[in-house]
Amino acid sequence: MTQPYKKVALIGLGLIASSMFWAMKRGSVAETVSGYARSPESRETARRIGLCDEVCESAAEAVKDADLIVLAVPVGAMGAVAKEIEPHLKAGATVTDVGSVKETVIEAVGPHIPDGVHFVPAHPMAGTEHSGPESGFATLFDNRWCLIVPAEGSEDEAVVRLESYWQELGANTERMEVAHHDLVCAVVSHVPHLIAYTMVGVADDLRRVSDQEVIKFSAAGFRDFTRIAASDPTMWRDVFLTNKQATIEILGRFTEELMALQRAIRTGDGEQLHAYFTHTRAIRRGILDAGQDTDAPDFGRAKVDR
Ligand code: NAP
Repeated sequence: MTQPYKKVALIGLGLIASSMFWAMKRGSVAETVSGYARSPESRETARRIGLCDEVCESAAEAVKDADLIVLAVPVGAMGAVAKEIEPHLKAGATVTDVGSVKETVIEAVGPHIPDGVHFVPAHPMAGTEHSGPESGFATLFDNRWCLIVPAEGSEDEAVVRLESYWQELGANTERMEVAHHDLVCAVVSHVPHLIAYTMVGVADDLRRVSDQEVIKFSAAGFRDFTRIAASDPTMWRDVFLTNKQATIEILGRFTEELMALQRAIRTGDGEQLHAYFTHTRAIRRGILDAGQDTDAPDFGRAKVDR
């Protein structure tokens, strides 16, 4: 194991930051990890469970002497946090983030990066529906992808160092251009979440009519939607407010496909439905073959290791 950074500061101590901490500890990836969360409750929880070597009372204190600073707060809060730590960053340090949207984060954080400090945005493509300091676990990033999205002016040496850091946490890394990142994430993550939220909302309406049936028979597909729809409301509100353009574009395409399927059902076009579902089944097989999910009924998510 190598240590790309000696001291790492985690700003925000939720699912992603706490998983990064346990993964760093597992592999001795950093010498010291400091952390800061906005609420006293989260800081207290972090101290109780041993999350971070040092839990600080301010973001400014946490970033002192840090070689890597990770912004792990909701996308809409990134700019304000960057502004707060700006005067306290060490020369030569790297600031990164884990936000699910990149263009807006780069716009919000970029102006607060002082000369002599590197900024390399990133996005680990791993998560669960849980949030908060107690939700993290060391294996979250194992064999998952972390997209590295260099901003204008990100120096190559700083980018390579962040890549090796994520690899030490267990992830595979790939560089991606900013607008492409936001479009890809709209397809593979953001719109699927919106659809899950909608489906659960629709079923809840129905529940008023059919009493407990929706819950009772939920194993039939709906259960997986409810897991996704339990994701953190603040995080997802910010994702849709900041990845507006790509989300709307993909939603438009989704609506067109849905209409085509609706028409096939109405006209009894079984051939079209069968061909469509055969194609989507092949996509699922591809995900399993790439080792990005498991075929277990619970998708292998029941077991959580710290
Ligand atoms: P989380 O578990 O909800 O934790 C969020 C952290 O941010 C908490 O420490 C919270 O502090 C703090 N925070 C919330 N609002 C804040 C504000 N206005 N100012 C300062 N701090 C604030 O979230 P997470 O799942 O770790 O997500 C963190 C980031 O990772 C987000 O940008 C998200 O888009 C991205 N991401 C998430 C996933 C996922 O699946 N969850 C995957 C990849 C990337 P308190 O605890 O004190 O409230």
